[in-house]
Amino acid sequence: MLTLIVCIFSAGILLFVEARLYAALDAQLGQEIATIGKVYREEPDELNDLAPEWGITLFQLDGGGVHRQSEAWEREGLSRALQTGGAASPVSWTTPEGHHYRVDSISESSYRVAAALDETSLRNTVWTLAVILAAGIPFAAGLAIAGGYFLAGRVLSPVGAMAQKAREITAESLAKRLPVDNAQDEFGRLATVFNDTLSRLQDAFERLRRFTADASHELRTPLTAMRSVGEVALQSTLDPVAYRDAIGSMLEEVDRLTHLVEGLLMLTRADSGKLQLAPEALDLGRLVGHVIDQLRVLADEKHQELTLRAPIRVNAIGDAALIRHALMNLIHNAIKYTPNGGIISVEVNVTGGRAMIEVRDTGPGIPAAHRDRIFDRFYRVDTSRSREEGGVGLGLAIARWAVEANGGQLELASGGTDGSSFRLILPAPHDSSAAGGHRQVYEPRGRRQEVGSS
Ligand code: ADP
Repeated sequence: MLTLIVCIFSAGILLFVEARLYAALDAQLGQEIATIGKVYREEPDELNDLAPEWGITLFQLDGGGVHRQSEAWEREGLSRALQTGGAASPVSWTTPEGHHYRVDSISESSYRVAAALDETSLRNTVWTLAVILAAGIPFAAGLAIAGGYFLAGRVLSPVGAMAQKAREITAESLAKRLPVDNAQDEFGRLATVFNDTLSRLQDAFERLRRFTADASHELRTPLTAMRSVGEVALQSTLDPVAYRDAIGSMLEEVDRLTHLVEGLLMLTRADSGKLQLAPEALDLGRLVGHVIDQLRVLADEKHQELTLRAPIRVNAIGDAALIRHALMNLIHNAIKYTPNGGIISVEVNVTGGRAMIEVRDTGPGIPAAHRDRIFDRFYRVDTSRSREEGGVGLGLAIARWAVEANGGQLELASGGTDGSSFRLILPAPHDSSAAGGHRQVYEPRGRRQEVGSS
């Protein structure tokens, strides 16, 4: 492209310079012709002195019986130039010997004057310019190619470095990042975006790795317990009561395993991103009442007071099964972690135009250091105590996911030593942010829905 531009530009220069030089030559020629005409008209005797006095060596004059032509004109046979040139004048003429002349003539009523000027130096000038330009074109094109190659190489070198680095990044080395020379330019921004993606991938991989490790660990514990109970039972002959005890312990572990596997299954389904929700209008007081009825037997065993306060009818929109599951986990936790004789109170109310369920207990509360993490998968404040109670550390993670999938929020409202309080907020029926009344697909909403941080 540049070569084409240089060619057009050079040709333009050449034509322009040539036209200017010819214009200057023709003007000079015109002046000479005018001088000859003037001399002829005023002092015809001086026509012989044109060469020494005016430097006019090539001319011809015809008029009133006078026919005069310079010796050089005759020698070079310039009359022929006018004959071949016809009406067009001035003309360029090349003699058989190869001399170049510019010839012009004018015809007045009584005479006709023709004159010529040597054109050789003009031609030489134009030729020299043409040679210079022609030689310059490949030089300019070469320079442009070399410069372009060099510049493109420099500009694109970060891409090469990025590609090289990107090639080194595998699932095992997700901590590596692309080099960012200048975060403000396009490549810098591209690398930064890529690095952000890598960070998210690394987080996701890390969470997956932790989740798998935790799940394996949790699965191994009840299996080990079952194995040792079985081995002990087989080692000696026991009476039927002891066998029943052994089988009972094993069934307890099976329960724990079932509970764990169900939790894992639920979270896996949640993570898969496509879960069919069936949102409907819920009477929260009734829903909570049913859950409390189911769990009352556990509270009674621990002589706990389990109360429901629902001063007004509160409606909400949500998937009944998921909300029930979340409530079950919350209230069950309250019963589990509150000592015998404690009080668990559940309140159903409205806050800021949204439905609210608050589960309060008089248990040990949750130490400040753990409050941020209790919703994480497999996170337990006191591992041994939770395990004794049959907990696997997935209850709150599942509850939060279930609530958020329904457009709500679940948070720890307070966790001081006088007990914990969990608050569950759900969209009210008229809430535009709520899920609609039809079946819908639950799509995870970025990080927040990823139940806990595992
Ligand atoms: P788990 O199955 O162990 O109960 P959760 O996810 O339900 O797991 O709870 C996580 C941790 O939060 C529990 O191990 C427990 O230490 C703490 N926790 C949850 N609810 C309460 C509560 N009401 N009172 C005190 N601690 C609680």
